[in-house]
Amino acid sequence: MSLSLIAKTIKASPTLKLNEKFAILKEKGDPVIHLGGGEPKSRVPMEAILATVAHVNTGEVRYAPADGIPALKQAIIRYTEEFYERKVNPEHVIASGGAKQAIMVALQAILNPQEEVLFPAPYWVSYPDMAKLIGAIPVPVLPEDGTFYPRLKDITDRVGSYTKAVIINSPNNPTGAMYSEEFIADVVEFCEKKDLWLIMDDIYHRLIFDGRKPINCYKYAKKFDENSKIIVINGVSKQYAMTGFRIGWAVGNKKVIEAMSNIQGHQTSGPSVVLQKAAVAALNGIQSGVESLRATLENNRNVMIDLLRSFEGVIVTKPDGTFYCFADFSAYDKDSNKLSEFLIDKVQVLTVPGKEFGLDGYLRLSYCGTISDIQDGIERMKWALDPNSPNELYIGDRKLVRDWS
Ligand code: PMP
Repeated sequence: MSLSLIAKTIKASPTLKLNEKFAILKEKGDPVIHLGGGEPKSRVPMEAILATVAHVNTGEVRYAPADGIPALKQAIIRYTEEFYERKVNPEHVIASGGAKQAIMVALQAILNPQEEVLFPAPYWVSYPDMAKLIGAIPVPVLPEDGTFYPRLKDITDRVGSYTKAVIINSPNNPTGAMYSEEFIADVVEFCEKKDLWLIMDDIYHRLIFDGRKPINCYKYAKKFDENSKIIVINGVSKQYAMTGFRIGWAVGNKKVIEAMSNIQGHQTSGPSVVLQKAAVAALNGIQSGVESLRATLENNRNVMIDLLRSFEGVIVTKPDGTFYCFADFSAYDKDSNKLSEFLIDKVQVLTVPGKEFGLDGYLRLSYCGTISDIQDGIERMKWALDPNSPNELYIGDRKLVRDWS
């Protein structure tokens, strides 16, 4: 079949594929544990549910402006004032089908084929394929010192004449690392000096631990309004547990937002008005759910880290935020795809191979599920991997027998 060159270079999203696998195994009645998930399990805010139902009940669900309804733009403007101390206008804001589409249309608006976009590795799985979708070149940058915390030099060393943009995702998926204020300040200053676009993927910025506060990139900017090349990305998926509503947004200068709106208008005509109303309600509603999710995740992180630290051979860096932990399992297998498959096959625990995030030998483990999923999942992994474990393990009334060494 003569598919396009771009189609041939794009892989399915490994995390979405894993969700499908989980659903299939679950439906078969298998006792599978999903430690590969990317969504909180808390309930959608009640205001959002009511707003959705109320709008559907009008019986009139129509097209809406491609860049977002005015009420959502107002809510995003208020959010930007609260978290970024920055007053913006509706022309500086676009609402999209998730943060994912906001990033995609931003890249389409700023990159030409063959131009490069840099991002620290490990990175969110979609960045490389998003760049490839427009014929641009993804340039992942692994911190030279072997940590999950890049230094400015890691970035500057890779910037060349084709570099057009940098993406920073902090706290980071998959490592949970929140980059320092100093690093963010350095990157903002550097991108302004080099006239590079800077996409700040702040989707996890409120889900941070140990008393940390969200970092405001604009604090370090010298260029504002129409001269600013910073594009801030956010959304309701993670902080309000509204992944299925598919609402995200971008804040940037008027020209880039206008270009993004034009592109989005032809792609999807913008996100559904029903789901935008839900996002407005979540953003303007009671915010205690965000704090309670954050506190739950911090506790889950502590449980997971303690368990992993007692796991011989596994090296783990404590995440500062998000709901992911990126642990080094190379002592067991340097091939993370093989290891992840082995864990599904033998003990029905789903993890995401580190290779998908640009670092083999690691597994991404999520702690957005229940404490018992975390405990049972890691117990099963230990049993499968530790050659000294007993020969048998019971999962409910199922007996697993070790037939491997
Ligand atoms: N950025 C990062 C770093 C993410 O992890 C995700 C979701 N996994 C997104 C963006 C996209 O979020 P959304 O559901 O709003 O499209």
